[in-house]
Amino acid sequence: MVGGAGGIAHAAAAMARMDREMRRRLAESKARRRHMKDMHNGRKAGHPPAPPARSDLACAWMCGTCGLLADSNPKTCPGCQSLYWLDLGDHAVADTVRESEDRARRQAPQWLQVCLIAAASAGVLLLWLILGRAWSVLLVGVPAVTVFWLAGLRSIAWAVAARLPHQPARWRFPIAPGALPGTGAAEPNGPVLQAPFSGTDCVAWRVGVMFDVEGDYRPPQWALAEARSSAISLDGSPIEADGIVFEGPLRPISLEDAEEAGLNLGAFLRERGLFAGDGSYLLFEACLPAGTAVVCDGAVLRPASEG
Ligand SMILES: [Zn+2]
Repeated sequence: MVGGAGGIAHAAAAMARMDREMRRRLAESKARRRHMKDMHNGRKAGHPPAPPARSDLACAWMCGTCGLLADSNPKTCPGCQSLYWLDLGDHAVADTVRESEDRARRQAPQWLQVCLIAAASAGVLLLWLILGRAWSVLLVGVPAVTVFWLAGLRSIAWAVAARLPHQPARWRFPIAPGALPGTGAAEPNGPVLQAPFSGTDCVAWRVGVMFDVEGDYRPPQWALAEARSSAISLDGSPIEADGIVFEGPLRPISLEDAEEAGLNLGAFLRERGLFAGDGSYLLFEACLPAGTAVVCDGAVLRPASEG
């Protein structure tokens, strides 16, 4: 994770860029809506009809600071207290987020660029001290640094990103799960859920979606982490819906199997502000069938077979 003044400044600059882009997009979206209204009213608009500004799908709102997804705009983010919410159902907003994330994936982080420039400068200075002649530095040092920069920057950024922990870009977990600790069979206290990828009937599920695109500066990274649970009863104690996180091991689900089980990947992703055609997605899922023996520690449920 990046910390310190450099990281904060970079985050602030990125946020400001995104904000400017958002305003431009929203202005365009407003113009499109005005154009649609003109067309509807039979006025001469002079342009072909614009595409609809909103998705027909039940798209989430996303916290622009921490990536928490919510069904509606909760004003203050329960995850990070931010007031910055993005309506992913608005095509212009979703496109702006999409472009911003794509841009970030296709360049080295600014803090890394600064570190490499500092290291290259130190190398050139050292060369100057060793050789003692400015023309030698120009002949050897500058081409070496340039070649290194052009050829190695992506590899270095990729390797650094592979070693740094990262948070999923979007997430939806219970913010403050709480239940009485206990063990027993997780019995449904209402309608059961259907796991999104395998289609399995269950009382809780957790999924992860990993994303990668060729030629970018990062290894495959988590684009989404999400967990839902139905109302259940454990050892006689009720646990309300979405009151607990199921921590069973994630297993990969092939896209073919998921689509056979009824998944519409494009719609699933679009509802979360992601786009199926942007790259490759790997799906992971854990689900808890009703009646499975579990251990609850108050915040998470684990299969009893795992201890
Ligand atoms: Zn947040």
